[in-house]
Amino acid sequence: MSAITVRVPAKVNLQLAVGPLREDGYHDLVNVFHAVSLFDEVTAAEPFDPAPGRDPSAAPLVVRVEGDLAGEVPVSDDNLAVRAARALADRTGRSYRADLLIRKSIPVAGGMAGGSADAAAALVACNELWGLGLPREDLMEIAADIGSDVPFALLGGTAVGTGRGERLAPLETAGVFHWVFALADGGLSTPRVYGECDRLREEAGVAAPTPAVSEALLAALREGDVRALGQALSNDLQPAALALRPSLANTLAAGREHGALGALVSGSGPTCAFLAESAERAHELAALIKDVDGCRSVVTASGPVPGATVAG
Ligand code: ATP
Repeated sequence: MSAITVRVPAKVNLQLAVGPLREDGYHDLVNVFHAVSLFDEVTAAEPFDPAPGRDPSAAPLVVRVEGDLAGEVPVSDDNLAVRAARALADRTGRSYRADLLIRKSIPVAGGMAGGSADAAAALVACNELWGLGLPREDLMEIAADIGSDVPFALLGGTAVGTGRGERLAPLETAGVFHWVFALADGGLSTPRVYGECDRLREEAGVAAPTPAVSEALLAALREGDVRALGQALSNDLQPAALALRPSLANTLAAGREHGALGALVSGSGPTCAFLAESAERAHELAALIKDVDGCRSVVTASGPVPGATVAG
């Protein structure tokens, strides 16, 4: 096989409960992930060698990024897709080569785990390209070492993550949920938002609670009850994201005014997520909030969808 393309979804957090800061620098979390139909595509291809005597010191893994957001994504070894491909090659103890191409649609630094999605897609694509045949469980282990959100991008669907978010249990859900995402200008750094969350709690003298999954949320998902789901959405990082980006309060208010059943910041933000009653209502809502101050663009999507999948 000389090229493999993998399609991988973005996530929204239906619940993000943030516990105390641990000694290893992470927080204990309860993180209900939901994969939505906003996709990046990663192609892994055998490098094209114009001459047999190609410089042997040439980088074995090269990445390019296409799309409007390409300028915001590193094309160095720091790219999460490159890190994932390297971790996979290291696991086999052999050196492999690949040219990676990312077609980017998931917002960058937007709280929708786009970088983690690309890492998961690179694992699946290189596993195929290099004919390794590693089972999903092995890819999940490598994924957890790369980042807390990477295993979920492999799994997809709806799942609850505990620990730092990487220990996953799939959740039973009924039906399809329709979403509008308001993308903001510029990103928010995830570590900065967690830091602000700790700072706000300290300032208010509030101890971080032990995170626990919301029973109301689980019931709403199980029953496919969109109104109950809208009521049960929650994100402990939202006050911190709003403190760092006050304009998000307008975006959330506009969505609620125009009939969203639920409105919240996605993960560490600044993307805002709105739950709509139907696909039609999602399109109407998108048209109504697209001109709100601070909102760069809107997209509609539905979930749950599968995780990283070979597309061709
Ligand atoms: P999360 O929701 O997991 O906290 P995020 O969606 O807020 O993450 P990402 O888009 O994953 O943020 O990217 C965070 C940073 O990671 C970017 O600012 C970028 O510098 C770096 N990065 C590395 N590789 C990638 C990639 N393939 N796509 C996007 N960003 C990448």
